Amino acid sequence: MAKHVKKNDLVRVMAGREKGKEGKVLAVFPQRERVLVEKINLIKRHTRPNEQNQQGGIIEKEGTLHLSNVMPVCGKCQGPVRVRHQVLDNKKVRICAKCKEPLDKV
Ligand SMILES: [Zn+2]
Repeated sequence: MAKHVKKNDLVRVMAGREKGKEGKVLAVFPQRERVLVEKINLIKRHTRPNEQNQQGGIIEKEGTLHLSNVMPVCGKCQGPVRVRHQVLDNKKVRICAKCKEPLDKV
């Protein structure tokens, strides 16, 4: 399956607890079909004090979302859009299915 979401994309969450929120993609895990989005699906973790964190306590970390639950946001359409794949100058690029603008910097 071709990836519709890449690292550093702005995506909209389409389903689940965080539905409607937008954030930047921090990482994509294609094998697991999961994606990590900045400030979305935060999970509280209790930590013990260690060298990096003198006090310990509760830290918030992003939890992964399923790839199918996020859609890239097109800057031109200003909303979540479907993605088409196209070859441009021998490079695979993703274009917005709505306005046909490339979503990748060429
Ligand atoms: Zn568009």
